[in-house]
Amino acid sequence: MNGLSCPVCCKNLDGYPAWCPHCSADLHEFWKSEDFVQELIVALDQPNASVAMQAASLLGQFGDQRAVEPLKRLLGKAGDAYLTRAVKVALHSLGAAVEPERGLG
Ligand SMILES: [Zn+2]
Repeated sequence: MNGLSCPVCCKNLDGYPAWCPHCSADLHEFWKSEDFVQELIVALDQPNASVAMQAASLLGQFGDQRAVEPLKRLLGKAGDAYLTRAVKVALHSLGAAVEPERGLG
Protein backbone atom coordinates (compact mmCIF):
# COMPACT_ATOMS: atom_id res chain seq x y z
CA MET A 1 0.00 0.00 0.00
CA ASN A 2 1.15 3.45 -0.89
CA GLY A 3 1.57 5.08 2.52
CA LEU A 4 1.42 8.77 3.24
CA SER A 5 4.16 10.41 5.21
CA CYS A 6 4.10 13.13 7.82
CA PRO A 7 5.04 16.53 6.33
CA VAL A 8 6.95 17.36 9.52
CA CYS A 9 8.91 14.26 10.48
CA CYS A 10 8.51 12.32 7.20
CA LYS A 11 7.59 9.09 8.97
CA ASN A 12 4.90 6.90 7.47
CA LEU A 13 1.34 7.49 8.56
CA ASP A 14 -1.41 4.94 8.84
CA GLY A 15 -4.46 6.48 7.20
CA TYR A 16 -5.20 10.15 7.77
CA PRO A 17 -4.76 10.89 11.50
CA ALA A 18 -5.54 14.36 12.85
CA TRP A 19 -2.20 14.30 14.65
CA CYS A 20 1.03 12.60 13.67
CA PRO A 21 1.54 9.64 16.04
CA HIS A 22 5.33 10.11 15.75
CA CYS A 23 5.90 13.82 16.29
CA SER A 24 2.39 14.97 17.36
CA ALA A 25 2.25 17.53 14.55
CA ASP A 26 -1.24 18.86 13.93
CA LEU A 27 -2.04 17.46 10.52
CA HIS A 28 -5.61 18.65 10.25
CA GLU A 29 -4.68 21.81 8.39
CA PHE A 30 -2.26 19.91 6.20
CA TRP A 31 -4.99 17.53 5.07
CA LYS A 32 -7.02 20.51 3.96
CA SER A 33 -4.17 22.17 2.09
CA GLU A 34 -4.29 22.57 -1.67
CA ASP A 35 -1.66 19.93 -2.31
CA PHE A 36 -3.33 17.40 -0.13
CA VAL A 37 -6.64 17.77 -1.91
CA GLN A 38 -4.75 16.82 -5.07
CA GLU A 39 -3.21 13.85 -3.27
CA LEU A 40 -6.63 12.70 -2.12
CA ILE A 41 -7.94 12.94 -5.66
CA VAL A 42 -5.06 10.72 -6.77
CA ALA A 43 -5.80 8.36 -3.86
CA LEU A 44 -9.29 7.80 -5.23
CA ASP A 45 -7.67 5.58 -7.83
CA GLN A 46 -6.02 3.35 -5.25
CA PRO A 47 -6.89 -0.30 -5.82
CA ASN A 48 -7.28 -0.58 -2.05
CA ALA A 49 -10.96 0.26 -1.54
CA SER A 50 -10.51 1.32 2.08
CA VAL A 51 -7.89 3.92 1.11
CA ALA A 52 -10.12 5.21 -1.68
CA MET A 53 -13.05 5.34 0.75
CA GLN A 54 -11.10 7.40 3.26
CA ALA A 55 -10.02 9.75 0.50
CA ALA A 56 -13.59 10.11 -0.76
CA SER A 57 -15.01 10.86 2.66
CA LEU A 58 -12.30 13.43 3.42
CA LEU A 59 -12.89 15.14 0.09
CA GLY A 60 -16.59 15.31 0.97
CA GLN A 61 -15.76 16.88 4.33
CA PHE A 62 -13.37 19.42 2.83
CA GLY A 63 -15.95 20.55 0.32
CA ASP A 64 -13.42 21.21 -2.44
CA GLN A 65 -15.26 21.37 -5.75
CA ARG A 66 -12.27 20.03 -7.65
CA ALA A 67 -13.16 16.64 -6.19
CA VAL A 68 -16.56 16.48 -7.89
CA GLU A 69 -15.47 15.24 -11.33
CA PRO A 70 -12.96 12.63 -10.05
CA LEU A 71 -15.59 11.34 -7.61
CA LYS A 72 -18.15 11.03 -10.40
CA ARG A 73 -15.62 9.12 -12.48
CA LEU A 74 -14.95 6.79 -9.59
CA LEU A 75 -18.66 6.26 -9.06
CA GLY A 76 -18.92 4.90 -12.58
CA LYS A 77 -16.26 2.27 -12.02
CA ALA A 78 -16.24 1.49 -8.32
CA GLY A 79 -16.93 -2.21 -7.84
CA ASP A 80 -17.13 -2.05 -4.06
CA ALA A 81 -20.56 -1.31 -2.54
CA TYR A 82 -19.06 0.47 0.46
CA LEU A 83 -16.84 2.57 -1.74
CA THR A 84 -19.78 3.45 -3.99
CA ARG A 85 -21.73 4.56 -0.94
CA ALA A 86 -18.82 6.65 0.39
CA VAL A 87 -18.49 8.34 -3.00
CA LYS A 88 -22.20 9.12 -3.13
CA VAL A 89 -22.10 10.58 0.38
CA ALA A 90 -19.08 12.68 -0.59
CA LEU A 91 -20.78 13.95 -3.75
CA HIS A 92 -23.85 14.80 -1.72
CA SER A 93 -21.69 16.75 0.74
CA LEU A 94 -20.20 18.63 -2.19
CA GLY A 95 -23.67 19.51 -3.41
CA ALA A 96 -23.23 17.53 -6.62
CA ALA A 97 -26.20 15.76 -8.15
CA VAL A 98 -25.75 12.01 -8.32
CA GLU A 99 -27.37 10.61 -11.39
CA PRO A 100 -29.54 7.56 -10.96
CA GLU A 101 -27.82 4.31 -11.79
CA ARG A 102 -29.48 3.16 -14.93
CA GLY A 103 -28.21 1.87 -18.18
CA LEU A 104 -25.02 0.74 -16.46
CA GLY A 105 -23.66 -2.73 -17.03
ZN1 LIG B 1 5.33 13.55 12.21
